[in-house]
Amino acid sequence: MSKVLIIGAGGVGSVVTQKCASLPEVFSDIMLASRTKSKCEAIARRVDGNRVKTAQVDADNVPELLALINTFKPEMVINVALPYQDLTIMEACLEAGVHYLDTANYEPKDEAHFEYSWQWAYHERFKEKGLTAILGCGFDPGVTSIYTAFAAKHHFDEMHYLDIVDCNAGDHGKAFATNFNPEINIREVTQKGKYWENGKWVETDPHAIKKPLNYPNIGARNSYVIYHEELESLVKNFPSLKRARFWMTFGDEYLTHLRVIQNIGMASIEPIIYKGVEIVPLQFLKETLPNPGDLGENYTGETSIGCRIRGIKEGKEKTYYIWNNCKHQDAYNETGAQGVSYTTGVPAMLGVMMLLTGKWKKPGVFNVEEFDPDPFMELIGTYGLPWNEEINGDLEL
Ligand code: NDP
Repeated sequence: MSKVLIIGAGGVGSVVTQKCASLPEVFSDIMLASRTKSKCEAIARRVDGNRVKTAQVDADNVPELLALINTFKPEMVINVALPYQDLTIMEACLEAGVHYLDTANYEPKDEAHFEYSWQWAYHERFKEKGLTAILGCGFDPGVTSIYTAFAAKHHFDEMHYLDIVDCNAGDHGKAFATNFNPEINIREVTQKGKYWENGKWVETDPHAIKKPLNYPNIGARNSYVIYHEELESLVKNFPSLKRARFWMTFGDEYLTHLRVIQNIGMASIEPIIYKGVEIVPLQFLKETLPNPGDLGENYTGETSIGCRIRGIKEGKEKTYYIWNNCKHQDAYNETGAQGVSYTTGVPAMLGVMMLLTGKWKKPGVFNVEEFDPDPFMELIGTYGLPWNEEINGDLEL
C-alpha cells in the first residue's frame, strides 16, 4: 500500500495515472500534479471514485516541488513531465527523501542535447540517502533495455550485435503530427545519427542510414538509424556489444514535412524577436501542431518495437528477436490515449510497482537494465504489453 505522486498531465501522465488507479492494492493514494491543474482534473475524472487527487506545480521550481512532496508525503515520485524537469525533480526527491522514476533523460532547454551524465552524477547522493532513482522506464528507453537485459540473462553467453527496431505503423489521419511532445520529438529526430561500433561512437548525417525492415504483423517499412538515449547506458552495461544501433521508421510524408520545418527555421531553438516579444520557433510550432494526446480517437494501425540481437551461446552463434506490438485502438479504448503514450505509461507504472514491492529497490541511480528483468517480464503482458520472441530467425541486420 503506497502513496505516489505523478508529475506531468500529458498523454503519458494520463496512462500512468489510470494504470496506477486500477491497482488499489499497490497504489493506495495517488496525486497527479502538473503545470496546468485543469488537465490533471480532466484525467482524474476518467478514474472512478475520487481516487486521484490533483495539484498545480511548477516542476522547474525545487522549493515548490518540495512543498508539494512534504504536504502529500508520497513514497515515490513518477516524473512524466518533460526531460527539462528531471534534475529539479531529482533534487526535490533527494531533499524530501522519496524514490524517483522517469521515462526520458535530462535535456537542457537551450541546447538540443541529451545524455545521462547529468543524472548519473546524482548516484552517490541517492545512495547515501538509501533512495532509488530508476531512469528511463518507458518503452524506449525502458522495455527495450529490459528486453536486452533479459536476452543477456537467458539467451546469450556474450551479446555482440544489438539493433533496437522501433516501428510506428499507425495512421492518425493528420498531414503532420508527432506522437509525443512535439518539441522533444522534433529535437530528437532532427539531430545527427549516431551508433556504437568497436568501442567508439560513429556519427552520421541525420537519416543517412536507411533500410527497409520487416516488422511482425506489419510488413516492410523504411527504417533509419537515429541516436537514441538507451544506447548510451546499454553499451556501458553490456560491454561485450561490438555494435549497437537504433532504427526508427519514418514515412516519406513525415520526412518531407520535417525537412521543410527545418529549412524554414521552425525547428530552431534559438530565440527570435517577434513583434517585440521573444519566442522560440520550435516552441511556437508546438502550439500550432496537433496535441499528441488528442490523436487517439482516429488512430488506426499498430506499433512494433523490439530488439534484434546476435551473439554466442554455448560456443555457437545465436540470434534472438523479442518484440511487442500494440494497436493504437486498443490503447485508446482502454485509456483514451494513443499507442505511444500507452507503451510509455504502462512500463512506468510497472517500474514503480517493482520498486514499491521491493524487487527493484537498491540505493543509487540506475538505468532499468541494471535490475533483474524477470519480475518485470513476468508481469508486463498482464498489464497490456505482451511480448513475443523468435530464436535463430533472420534478423535482416
Ligand atoms: P506532453 O507534452 O503530452 O506532457 C507533458 C506534461 O508535462 C504536460 O502536462 C505539461 O504541462 C507538463 N509540464 C511541462 N513542463 C512542466 C513544468 N515546468 N511543471 C509542471 N508540469 C510541466 O508529453 P508526453 O506525455 O507525451 O511525454 C511525457 C514524457 O514522456 C516526456 O518526458 C517524454 O520525453 C517521455 N516519453 C518517453 C517515451 C519512452 O518510451 N521512454 C516515449 C514517449 C514519451 P502543460 O499541460 O501545462 O503543458
